[in-house]
Amino acid sequence: MKRFVKKALLLGITFVFMTPINAKAYTTFNGHKMSFGIGNYGNSTKFYWVDSSANTYSTKIANSFDRWIYSTKYAGITTPISYRKTTSKSASTVDIYKVKSIGTGIVGQTMFFVNQTKVNPSVQNWYWSKIELSESLLSKFPQYQQVTISHEIGHAFGLSHAAKQLMDPGADLAYSIGIEFPRKDEFNGINYLYK
Ligand SMILES: [Zn+2]
Repeated sequence: MKRFVKKALLLGITFVFMTPINAKAYTTFNGHKMSFGIGNYGNSTKFYWVDSSANTYSTKIANSFDRWIYSTKYAGITTPISYRKTTSKSASTVDIYKVKSIGTGIVGQTMFFVNQTKVNPSVQNWYWSKIELSESLLSKFPQYQQVTISHEIGHAFGLSHAAKQLMDPGADLAYSIGIEFPRKDEFNGINYLYK
C-alpha cells in the first residue's frame, strides 16, 4: 500500500509537471481578428508601415516580423502569416509609431480600427492596427525594445495577454525569462484564428 501511494504520488507529480507543456496559454480577443487576414504565405501578402518617428526601431521591427513570418524555421509551426514592409501607408494594415510617452510604465500599445474608427477587438473584428512605442521608456530600457515590438505585433494580429509568454502583460517579465520573439504558443494562437 505504501508503495502504491508512493507511485501514485509520483504520477501526480509527473502530471503536474507535464500539464503546462501541453496547455494552451494563448488567448484571443474573443476569437476576433483582422477582417482581411494576415496574408497567406506563398499566395498573398499584407503590409506594415513604419512612421518616420519609429525609424530608429526599423531593424528591430524587421527582426520581429521576420520571426513572426518564418515560424516554420524558428518554431516548427507553419502559419499563414505573410507580411512585408511598405512605404505606402494606405496599403498597410499594421502602422507603427514612436510617441513621447503613453502612460506610467507603459512601453507600448496597440489600437484597432475599422477605417478611421477605433474599435474594441473584444467586440468585433478590425481592418488594421496601430502600434505606439514609448520613446521615454524604451530609450531608458533598450533591452525591452525587441520584446515590446514582438508583443505589440501579436496584439495587432489578434492575440491577447497570456502569462509567462511573449504575450505576458509585463515586457520585463517576458524578457527576464528569455522571451523576445513569438514561440509555439503564439503561432498556435495565430493558426486558431486564421488557419
Ligand atoms: Zn500587451
